[in-house]
Amino acid sequence: QFPFGRRLPCDIYWHGVSFHDNDIFSGQVNKFPGMTEMVRKITLSRAVRTMQDLFPLEYNFYPRSWILPEEFPLFVAEVRMMKDSDPSWKPTFIVKPDGGCQGDGIYLIKDPSDIRLTGSIQSRPAVVQEYICKPLLVDKLKFDIRLYVLLKSLEPLEIYIAKDGLSRFCTEPYQEPTLKNLHQVFMHLTNYSLNIHSGNFIHSDSVNTGSKRTFSSILCRLSSRGADVKKLWSDIISLVIKTIIALTPELKVYYQSDIPAGKPGPTCFQILGFDILLMKNLKPMLLEVNANPSMRIEHEQELSPGVFENVPSPVDEEVKVAVIRDTLRLVDPHKKKRKDIHNCIVFCRDSLLRVVSVFCIIWGMKDKQHKHHSLKLSLKLKFYLKLGSCQTLEHVSEASEELLDAGRADRPEYEASRSPEAGLPSLCLKQVFPKYAKQFNYLRLVDRVAALFIRFLGVKGTTKLGPTGFRTFIRNCKLSNSNFSMASVDILYIDITRRWNSTGIDHKESGMCLQAFVEAFFCLAQKKYKSLPLHEQVASLIDFCEYHLAALDEKRLVCGRG
Ligand code: ADP
Repeated sequence: QFPFGRRLPCDIYWHGVSFHDNDIFSGQVNKFPGMTEMVRKITLSRAVRTMQDLFPLEYNFYPRSWILPEEFPLFVAEVRMMKDSDPSWKPTFIVKPDGGCQGDGIYLIKDPSDIRLTGSIQSRPAVVQEYICKPLLVDKLKFDIRLYVLLKSLEPLEIYIAKDGLSRFCTEPYQEPTLKNLHQVFMHLTNYSLNIHSGNFIHSDSVNTGSKRTFSSILCRLSSRGADVKKLWSDIISLVIKTIIALTPELKVYYQSDIPAGKPGPTCFQILGFDILLMKNLKPMLLEVNANPSMRIEHEQELSPGVFENVPSPVDEEVKVAVIRDTLRLVDPHKKKRKDIHNCIVFCRDSLLRVVSVFCIIWGMKDKQHKHHSLKLSLKLKFYLKLGSCQTLEHVSEASEELLDAGRADRPEYEASRSPEAGLPSLCLKQVFPKYAKQFNYLRLVDRVAALFIRFLGVKGTTKLGPTGFRTFIRNCKLSNSNFSMASVDILYIDITRRWNSTGIDHKESGMCLQAFVEAFFCLAQKKYKSLPLHEQVASLIDFCEYHLAALDEKRLVCGRG
């Protein structure tokens, strides 16, 4: 902790709330610039909606949402239309103020006319969302899941999910919403911060009882009832990856603005809290993403009226300590240093000495088959060392690693004395991306649109595109023609930019924000490739732009050489 200011550069900076320190030029920071803004209710809803427009089926894990006040007329019209087409539909909606947390300001309504439009909504925008009326119940109670996700890197995308999470319970038995029970927060809202004030809240020392339990204890219970928990996990992993894919395009814009490429700066990672609700049919639904999830492992206990004491909370400890420990293990700067030193030793010809010592290890091996395999490996290594060329040095490194691994496998106690991690439990954070990249890469279209946007931003440090940047984009990508003149390009730019800037999200800079650019891009794609589905139109236009830009780069390179 640096209460009076930091003096020395650090390996890892652990910020309490958000990325805000402009004086960091190296190391790693535990927050991404712009993440807090990105996971606010309105921004998250917008980002997911863009993906829903492209891939409606893949993104049906987020309840239908409208942004208030601007989409209030749309909300009224759509609900009326749905009711007309299905008179048996009796929906409930949940209204959540933007930027709110811990259930603050949330209320349920049965009809759009019940929205409290007076006063506060104008000053405090909100999201109104379809309420999930049939959640999965355990012990007759509604609960949600808090899962911890490590976004280890944005470029390349690297995501880890904690194997266990928390389940937070309501404290009144659940009933489907009726006009009579709409206001009963202990029945409908699972927030810990609310339910803790209910007389029914149960603090438990066990991880599988009480008002806060581990998610694994719920999975055990579901599995004993015959539920397909493997499928549930794979649905959850897919929900997490898809959500992060929806967030990355804008995060990249923030990132290049705060940490411009080519200039010294830190790299970032961040632990996110995903709030997920399971429906009765076990379908996971995303409620929200928390950029600054609580890592408290204690809770307050009232000893006598008005006298509180902090006591350990075993459930929180079980889940959260593992998340922090593994995050530090994964971003450990010494791990990289150790690896570099190790490679250095191997690259050096003197590593023949090492070979000798490895021979000694092999000599002492107990398992015969192991011994034989290791001897073969070591001969291969000697051969490479004799050749001694640069290329073969890489083989030396690989062969030596393999050899050392063989030695460690035979003698676990040898490994324990060498690796500082050897005594730690196995990782609770499981890599899901790039591990499952092949299944999800086709969804990353907006990421590619954002790459085009960033290319034309021009002066580094901005997040909005000026009219000249937009014109250059059109020209370089060869998008204007006799049907689409440069005058129409300017009109498109002005129309869309004005509309987005009037939504009042960000007044700091003038110009076209990424979402406005995405809208313009979709518009151009629809114009150019009329009969295809939207995602194919967009993909075709991206290919077209990337092709022309690559050709331009090639031309410039040749000219430069000339
Ligand atoms: P906050 O950030 O204020 O906690 P959330 O979006 O997490 O806001 O909502 C608070 C609680 O309301 C959730 O924990 C959940 O229990 C309930 N909730 C939120 N959205 C829905 C929904 N669409 N359907 C059913 N319950 C919901």
